[in-house]
Amino acid sequence: MIDIRVLTIFPNIFDSFLMYGNPARAIQMGLVKIQAVDLRQFADDPRRTTDDYPYGGGIGMVMKPDPIVRGIRSVQGSTNEVQVILLTPQGRQLTQQIVEELSSKASLLLICGRYEGIDERVRYFVHDEISVGDYVLSGGETASMVLMDAIVRLIPGVLGSDSRIDGESFYNGLLEYPQYTRPREFEGYEVPSVLLEGHHEKIRRWRRKMSLKRTTKHRPDLIRSMTIDNEVKELLQEIESESLI
Ligand code: SAM
Repeated sequence: MIDIRVLTIFPNIFDSFLMYGNPARAIQMGLVKIQAVDLRQFADDPRRTTDDYPYGGGIGMVMKPDPIVRGIRSVQGSTNEVQVILLTPQGRQLTQQIVEELSSKASLLLICGRYEGIDERVRYFVHDEISVGDYVLSGGETASMVLMDAIVRLIPGVLGSDSRIDGESFYNGLLEYPQYTRPREFEGYEVPSVLLEGHHEKIRRWRRKMSLKRTTKHRPDLIRSMTIDNEVKELLQEIESESLI
């Protein structure tokens, strides 16, 4: 059971996220506990203030450190087992590898910033800083949903027996092969004939080749860092010679 808490000034944002798909299934199965924690309860004034003007001037507001650190301590209780993660565009960029690493933790606390960001001193109280990409969101809530969704689907038992992660994009360091369902012909576009013939080995090889072709085109950086076995070498040569035609 993974215990995930999210510290936020907008806890209700998570209501529908937790009602559908894999997060909902994982909660129902008792494989994960996800709880949005209202940061305002840790404010120490009657107005429940969690932000203030920036020292040195400038536009916007900055989230105060004291409510956040009180929130961290409250979730940590007396243990140090909680992995505290700040969602920030300045963190290490989320990858499938990082998701795997975090999915093995027993307890996570995700801290969501808002406004112009969080007082710098909060960094002394967190273990990790994660970015979901090189762009700026309005708040850490959507970023934390991205992270939680990716974690939850890695928990054994969450995906139904008809879904698998081992062929998915990034799992084997490649993008996934193209997928098709009915109809067989759609607006003039046919399903590749190899998928209709029922020859499992040919389908396996075709899928691996398409995976490599797609990755070469869209993410050559992934190809450069993968292990090249004999079949991959052969398939890459085929892809190269076909592209010369
Ligand atoms: N001024 C900050 C900066 O330039 O680094 C950005 C603040 S952003 C408007 C408000 C909050 O959204 C951040 O504190 C962070 O929690 C969240 N956020 C924005 N972009 C993000 C990203 N790419 N990954 C993770 N969290 C992000």
